[in-house]
Amino acid sequence: MPSSDGTVHIIGAGLAGLAAAVRLTEAGRAVAIHEATGQAGGRCRSYYDHTTGMVIDNGTHLLLSGNHAALNYLKSIGAETMLEGPADAEFQFIDLAGGARWTVRFNNGQIPWWIFDKNRRVPQTRPRDYLPLARLMWASGDQPLSKLMSCSGPLYDRLLEPLFLAALNIVPPEGSGKLAAQILKETLGVGGKACRPLIAPEGIGTAFVDPAVAHLKQRGIDINFHRPLHALGYDGDRVSHLDFGADTITLDASDSVILAVPSYAAAGLLPGLQVPSSFRSIVNVHYRVDPPAGQPRMIGVINGTAEWIFALPGRVAVTVSDAGDLLEMPRNEVAQVIWRDVAAVMGLPEMLPPWQLVRERRATFAATPEENAKRPGARTNWVNLVLAGDWTATGLPATIEGAVRSGNRAADLVGGRNVNKVAA
Ligand SMILES: Cc1cc2nc3c(=O)[nH]c(=O)nc-3n(C[C@H](O)[C@H](O)[C@H](O)COP(=O)(O)OP(=O)(O)OC[C@H]3O[C@@H](n4cnc5c(N)ncnc54)[C@H](O)[C@@H]3O)c2cc1C
Repeated sequence: MPSSDGTVHIIGAGLAGLAAAVRLTEAGRAVAIHEATGQAGGRCRSYYDHTTGMVIDNGTHLLLSGNHAALNYLKSIGAETMLEGPADAEFQFIDLAGGARWTVRFNNGQIPWWIFDKNRRVPQTRPRDYLPLARLMWASGDQPLSKLMSCSGPLYDRLLEPLFLAALNIVPPEGSGKLAAQILKETLGVGGKACRPLIAPEGIGTAFVDPAVAHLKQRGIDINFHRPLHALGYDGDRVSHLDFGADTITLDASDSVILAVPSYAAAGLLPGLQVPSSFRSIVNVHYRVDPPAGQPRMIGVINGTAEWIFALPGRVAVTVSDAGDLLEMPRNEVAQVIWRDVAAVMGLPEMLPPWQLVRERRATFAATPEENAKRPGARTNWVNLVLAGDWTATGLPATIEGAVRSGNRAADLVGGRNVNKVAA
């Protein structure tokens, strides 16, 4: 049985692994981190791009002020000031079909009186249009959103589709009603104070990754890079060996393992483990251009190819979720088509500035009811092995918040407090 004085080996230095490491070191535990690549952060990373001469993110990551686990993680690593957002929960939109612009402004308290104010709610909607949201929050079981609410009309087109598409990373009618409901409960259900959009204008690496790596280094923990785990060895109901190919670590009776790798990698290491196996992509394009003065930090685009446009220092970044249509299109065509939207929104010339395109094919698991039902809990059949990652059963879609919560949960399970239950 693992005890509180052994080493916790964390496999994978994405946000789930980093969050687990930070929590365990706070509890005074010995930690070793093994990462397959040469960089921490996993699907949330920044890097220098030679084509544009800029540091770019693999994707601009949006948080909401109600993402309490992610925000506490940032506090723990001293990086809470790296996120920025408006003082109030406001979302700006533009409809490229007619050029209409509007801003949805949620009020801070739990009673949604913004719905009753035509200057705050979605144009062309009435208060009663919002009732299905309450019904969705309390629906039982899990069904596709198309079965639980109307996926058409001004409220859907002008607010719900862009928000659910961004949060679930799947065309909303196919998305899990249960996951959508959980998002609503943790955001609008709490009030506008939980809905302020937050981004890292200097890059996600400077917020979520570099400070964590520095924090761990200060506590004597260097991440072991270029060290993919090849296989786990077992002895009865325990993991006894970690096989890294070139070398093998033999675990003591007091050691434990947190497997914080993506679902497909976990399935390869733990045959028989049921995991989500279908994925959705996210496409980001980064343009080296100074956004004109007065541009909103982020704007949602309706009836365009671009979905969210971010005005950042010296660059403009665009996100397209569940972007299957853009995966096979020639790269320069994608950059050109999306730039046309940016130019229209920002009043910039049509000539393409230097750009870089990032297509993350397996950005998240497909947030359908079927795939959501495949997510395993943290505990495994081995007493000293627990799982972490945004794809484990967090109750949330694949997000930073879910990844951090899963890392925290895994840390708590091996950290001593709940260790006897790990065998469940
Ligand atoms: C383009 C894009 C945009 C996104 N936008 C948002 C957003 O706006 N808001 C939001 O909240 N979320 C967003 N997400 C989702 C968010 O990035 C993820 O939910 C989160 O980063 C997942 O973290 P993780 O630690 O669970 O997994 P990962 O980041 O996948 O980390 C797993 C780590 O394990 C390593 N690994 C794999 N195999 C092995 C092995 N055998 N041995 C050792 N190491 C191994 C990997 O290299 C990786 O570092 C986005 C994702 C993408 C791709």
